[in-house]
Amino acid sequence: VPAVECQQVSITYPDGFTAVQDIDLAVAPGEIVALLGPSGSGKSTLLRGLAGLERITSGRVLMDDVVVDGPGVIPRPVHQRGCGMVFQDGQLFPHRTVGRNIAYGLEAAGVPKPERRERVAQMLQLVSLEGFENRPVTTLSGGQGQRVALARSLAPRPKLLLLDEPLSALDRDLRERLAVDIRQILTSTSIAAVFVTHDHDEAATVADRIVTIDAGRIITA
Ligand code: ADP
Ligand code: ADP
Repeated sequence: VPAVECQQVSITYPDGFTAVQDIDLAVAPGEIVALLGPSGSGKSTLLRGLAGLERITSGRVLMDDVVVDGPGVIPRPVHQRGCGMVFQDGQLFPHRTVGRNIAYGLEAAGVPKPERRERVAQMLQLVSLEGFENRPVTTLSGGQGQRVALARSLAPRPKLLLLDEPLSALDRDLRERLAVDIRQILTSTSIAAVFVTHDHDEAATVADRIVTIDAGRIITA
């Protein structure tokens, strides 16, 4: 069964504007899908709908064959959907060290301290930041910050990772390198992912499959 599936999903904002319309999309376990489209095409809205940050107006969202939002369903809240998220600007907790940022979801899940330490070290190795545990996040470069954000989102071992333009605040060279690294990291963890971007090259580097969205609708090739 798909890790996540949208069936005829539409999202209309309270002002009446329909940002995404009739979306059918299924992401297989371990599959990396890029959601590609210009600014304002509805990518973030759809991603937030998958995460549970936005209620869908019609259609259904299923995760592992369970309806998490749809008609007659109490929408499953963000923290119960088991998905990790990475945003454009990382949104790291500024007063926590790198290690305690990565441990955040593990603390919330009640993972005991020795295991948290171990997992943090594994995650730092995964994103090539060994030894960064005690660094204040304010001392990180943009690329390092996004690696930490990725490590934090992966630490609780989510089944699905949602990435909303995670590279778009970085400069061109760094973007290309990090795109390659992100693909490698996601592939090595076998996690299903939806990667939102407006950059075709980036989508092609990161994803197994590109889904193009324009004006709220999926464009079929
Ligand atoms: P993208 O991620 O592709 O840039 P968004 O999903 O952010 O697109 O936005 C899609 C469209 O929905 C845009 O026209 C945007 O202005 C509109 N939109 C986003 N959020 C809201 C909101 N809260 N209320 C009304 N319209 C919104
Ligand atoms: P991004 O595209 O990076 O998500 P935006 O600047 O488009 O950022 O949107 C920032 C915030 O404003 C988002 O929370 C979005 O939902 C909201 N927003 C965007 N467009 C509108 C709109 N037309 N009406 C109300 N809120 C909007």
